[in-house]
Amino acid sequence: MKCPHCKTPDLRPTMIDDFLPAMGCGICHGCLLSLLYYRHWAETQNAPASEPRKSGPALETTDTTAAIACPKCSRIMAKYKLSGRIANRLDVCSTCDEAWLDGGEWELLEVLQLSHKIPAIFTDAWQRRIRRELTEETRRDILTRMIGADGAAKVEEFRAWLGKCKDRSHILTYLYRSETALPACDGSSQNR
Ligand SMILES: [Zn+2]
Ligand SMILES: [Zn+2]
Repeated sequence: MKCPHCKTPDLRPTMIDDFLPAMGCGICHGCLLSLLYYRHWAETQNAPASEPRKSGPALETTDTTAAIACPKCSRIMAKYKLSGRIANRLDVCSTCDEAWLDGGEWELLEVLQLSHKIPAIFTDAWQRRIRRELTEETRRDILTRMIGADGAAKVEEFRAWLGKCKDRSHILTYLYRSETALPACDGSSQNR
């Protein structure tokens, strides 16, 4: 089996964690992980109890952004995002039940406390949640560009408060109807 990232070198047996064998590439340090072995490992090995690492040295990863072919069956592997904020995606071949982890991605999963939750990443629910987070983030970015960071922070604060209100529909209706009654605005952002 050849490395799907570097193409040339053969993958060799390696251990990515205690009792977790995989086929690794000596050049890019990516590895092909059998999800059958992985599920057994995740069931029998306890997840680390430590808190997620918030800071510390940034992890070096080599995320393959292009589509890659499964080293076993040559079919194009499906890509799954880990989270909304992280660009890395895991590549999976459902036919062979194998995942390709680019160099550093196993360590990244550990930092994100996802090393025991890989199957969850492949679910529709997980991917839908990430898309929702990304949409939210994009909308917030647009609002910030339009009304400035201070204004956007105020809106966020108000929205968070509104989220806890039982009577929010009354407040929203009031605001919506008030728009025509507010003093004329020249269209530029007003900070005062
Ligand atoms: Zn490689
Ligand atoms: Zn395959």
